[in-house]
Amino acid sequence: MATQLEMAKAGIITEEMKKAVEGEPVSAEELRELIAAGFAVLPKNRNHSFPTIRAIGKNLKTKVNANIGTSGECCSVELEKEKLDAAVRGGTDSIMDLSTGGELSSFRNFFLENSPVIVGAVPIYGVATRMIARNEALDRMSVDELLRGIEQQCSEGLDYITVHCGVTLASVKKLEDYERIMPCVSRGGSIHMNWMRKNKKENPLYEYYDNLLDIAYKYDVTLSLGDGFRPGAILDATDGPQIEELMILGELAKKARNRNVQVMIEGPGHVPLNQITSNVMLQKRLCDGAPFYILGPLPTDIAAGYDHITAAIGGAIAGAAGADYLCYVTPAEHLGLPNADDVYQGVMAGRIAAHIADLGKGLPGAIEKDRRMSVARKNLDWDAMVREALDPALVKQRLQITEDREGCSMCGKLCAVKISRAI
Ligand code: SF4
Repeated sequence: MATQLEMAKAGIITEEMKKAVEGEPVSAEELRELIAAGFAVLPKNRNHSFPTIRAIGKNLKTKVNANIGTSGECCSVELEKEKLDAAVRGGTDSIMDLSTGGELSSFRNFFLENSPVIVGAVPIYGVATRMIARNEALDRMSVDELLRGIEQQCSEGLDYITVHCGVTLASVKKLEDYERIMPCVSRGGSIHMNWMRKNKKENPLYEYYDNLLDIAYKYDVTLSLGDGFRPGAILDATDGPQIEELMILGELAKKARNRNVQVMIEGPGHVPLNQITSNVMLQKRLCDGAPFYILGPLPTDIAAGYDHITAAIGGAIAGAAGADYLCYVTPAEHLGLPNADDVYQGVMAGRIAAHIADLGKGLPGAIEKDRRMSVARKNLDWDAMVREALDPALVKQRLQITEDREGCSMCGKLCAVKISRAI
């Protein structure tokens, strides 16, 4: 059975493409062209059915992902259910199951069965967690075990997977040549780097990339090429290891497209404000316009507890510069596993950033939402203000309208809108 990319190249508009353009400013034919060119992806495993099909990439609305899942320290089905509900209620476009605690396949299958949106994961977590449960050292992981683990998870229905194929002997060497504050903040990246150092061998995901492509092709899984060497401190941003890895990812993206496997590229990380736009431009240039899935970025390191705000600032700028997909950050970032409220706050912050990005991109239709809200404010039309808000329930809950409905408790009888309307 052909993949979405293969169909797009053959000029075929699939049912999924028709669904994915609902609410988008492009037609199904335009989306097909974007997918065929590798400028957009439509993550949808052929073994996974879910109602909210989305495409990610150029000329499309900026999308948001919510990372949920267990940890070794915090592992409960109830909590994960609450987090999934919170992410969906917030309006996320996708979730990633980053579970590393408990029976991972049961959590994965819970998400696959219950999520109405795209589901992604990082398969190395599953493989590593199983080995740790058996008290095996991670550097004893065999290539076969790694690839079988990835195939098993893809067969269960994951729509996209993060794979750290760019952590290679060359990029590890570059990392060793640089003095970074935080050498490696990626769990997957550090597992691969440790394996390579101990075994004195190339990363299996790079050496056997063709086998990985076979798996991705078989289930039509989109590859999200992970950035194992993303900067984890703003002083480490845009350095040699990051760019070396990005160039490798660009080459791997080409190979994936040639094999009819959809691909996107993950990006930093911690990046100062004045480097965010250039990071997006570099990624687009080096990866032939592949969709950019950006983790934050966080333009300061000192806002723990408020990192959903930090990430929204970075995400809005990155999105306006062309990043396509924002991985949310919650208030719990750097501090602990998020709870359901953290997840909700993270998704809302991500959606604010995504909408600001769409305004910055000049995406057709984006400004209309703001126009409708502005007119509602001009008319002191409180019902319309609730309706047009990103979070109507919150606005409804917080509204403090005066008795005559001609103002709110902020200025009361001195309501500037009312006074200027009278004039
Ligand atoms: S009272 Fe003040 S804040 Fe409230 S609507 Fe009027 S001008 Fe705006």
